[in-house]
Amino acid sequence: MQSRWNAADAARCTTPLDLRVYTSRLLGADPALVLHGGGNTSVKASVQNLFGDLEEILYIKGSGWDLATVAAAGFAPVRLDVLRRMADLPSLTDTDMVRVQRAAMIDPNAPTPSVEAILHAIIPFTFVDHTHADAVVTVSNTPGGARRIHEIYGDTVLVVPYVMPGFVLARAVRELTRATDWEQLDGIVLLNHGIFTFGPDAKSSYERMIALVTRAERHLEQHASPVASGTAPRAASLERAELLSLAQLRHAVGWAKGGPVVALLDRSPEAVAFSSRADVAAIATRGPLTPDHVIRTKPVPLVAGGNWTDAVAGYATRYREYYTRHATPGLACLDPAPRWVVWQGNGSVSVASSAREAAIITDLARHTARAIEYAERLGGWRALPEADLFAVEYWELEQEKLRQGGASPVLSGKVALVTGAASGIGRAVAESLYGQGAAVVATDISAGVVQLAKDGMWGLVTDARDHDAVHRSVAECVSRFGGLDIVVSNAGVFPPSQRIESMDQGSWDDSLSLNLSSHLVLLRSAVPFLRLGFDPCVVIIGSKNVPAPGPGAAAYSVAKAGLAQLARVAALELGRDGIRVNTVHPHLVFDTGLWTPEVLAARAAQYGMTVEEYCRNNVLRVEISTRDVASAVLALAGPTFAKTTGAQIPIDGGSDRVI
Ligand SMILES: [Zn+2]
Repeated sequence: MQSRWNAADAARCTTPLDLRVYTSRLLGADPALVLHGGGNTSVKASVQNLFGDLEEILYIKGSGWDLATVAAAGFAPVRLDVLRRMADLPSLTDTDMVRVQRAAMIDPNAPTPSVEAILHAIIPFTFVDHTHADAVVTVSNTPGGARRIHEIYGDTVLVVPYVMPGFVLARAVRELTRATDWEQLDGIVLLNHGIFTFGPDAKSSYERMIALVTRAERHLEQHASPVASGTAPRAASLERAELLSLAQLRHAVGWAKGGPVVALLDRSPEAVAFSSRADVAAIATRGPLTPDHVIRTKPVPLVAGGNWTDAVAGYATRYREYYTRHATPGLACLDPAPRWVVWQGNGSVSVASSAREAAIITDLARHTARAIEYAERLGGWRALPEADLFAVEYWELEQEKLRQGGASPVLSGKVALVTGAASGIGRAVAESLYGQGAAVVATDISAGVVQLAKDGMWGLVTDARDHDAVHRSVAECVSRFGGLDIVVSNAGVFPPSQRIESMDQGSWDDSLSLNLSSHLVLLRSAVPFLRLGFDPCVVIIGSKNVPAPGPGAAAYSVAKAGLAQLARVAALELGRDGIRVNTVHPHLVFDTGLWTPEVLAARAAQYGMTVEEYCRNNVLRVEISTRDVASAVLALAGPTFAKTTGAQIPIDGGSDRVI
């Protein structure tokens, strides 16, 4: 492991807290040290208060902050004397610990201090660093782990057998170090948990961490060097049967969890090799890398090769039995669905209510699988007993970390496919579905669609008239997010105005191809996956031209009328599978690429109106925007219209030709 210390960067830090932020981020930048909220750091400083008195303050990383991105505001300033006195208490409830620590902060708006604040306080050095370094934990998660840790570090490191983090751990370290000369120590290893280092300055504490972890890494290299895996890598793209299996897995896990979920498949060579091991069911289910992972991954993954309904039901039964074995009065059983699925021979799948959370689980699963492979060569993977895991999984302070996200948006865990999404209505729909928590695949013939890509949103260049490309876009959606719940079939074009007697055959054919046939192609590809979706639905973007056609727009009006009829038949055919099909008919949506100021002025003049009058030429005298259409689509895709299918809803401000 390389030190990332850079003297020039460090020189720009002017206060101890600046340096604390700097080396915290260095730790956070290395996933072999710290993953997603793991680890914590602190610095002790004298601070002058408003009255001119000096106070000794522990700046400790706040709960809910990641070391990789922590800022000064992410550190909770707690009076050191209060924390030290807390370490002398014979016992302390978690509620009291948090309450007293918050009351001892010199800034009431700072985040709640890390659960390890008391331990940081009793370590008599200015800087304290704590990580869950993979190498250290891997060595300790083996039958001879404690002996090996002693072998690696000798007497320069204090070894603490596993106890619950928080007050209990601080007390244990306090007792073990009563007669210790701290100057003789380089660090503290917490078996099955992680490692602490400390020093008088930021650099020494950080570099001690790097040095100690490097020694554990060398031990692994010498005693457990990897053997080449014989597994052939799987193709990146999935066969149709595999796609359906993945959608079935997602469906089964979502039902057990009680709502829709995103399922991220990891087909990396490492994940496939791990899932292909003959002994994977035995070695993957012995427990997590560190106990704090259980709040995201549950104590063990589901290991299965298919038949997902039974496999997930079996997992749920085993989870409830585990709960019953350890439950204490006042607890409620969490949902029994797996979060990490080892799909035998195919890789690994992470399941969560959002793509972001699922990606975190993928990281935890990768590190855990790697650690298990090492530990197996070191005598066998051995995690903590399940009673210890249960204590952390149901620890109120850990559950609080998950709750900090707040209430979930209405479409959390849903997966949507939106066509024609590079601009205009499609883009507004894609953004608003995403904004309400859905994972979205946005497609368009325009290359600009790829710019929509972000965490949980994917842009894919697709010609809606190309059957194979449409098929691939549906496959991409399923392989990327695990399934499909919402299809917004929007791709379309408004051809140049032509009267019937002078209709150009090419324009007619093009309009029918894109505005009608392409929607059938998409439905045909999507339906098998929608059947495995959660409250699955299709929203067709029609046009006011269906109920009220205009002269010169035969090619458009006929195609859209056919599309409306296709939607009605689809509603009839798919209702039995619970798939809703509804249509919106927008009219004169001006914030789209079609309506340049010139076009707008010309059309207004044609009707003898000002642009202002033309834009509001409807019963309500209102302008219609892409956002209005997106809101209606959002409502149709969500629970408000859960009992509605076959509907055709105008978004036109009211048309006196239709009403
Ligand atoms: Zn820890």
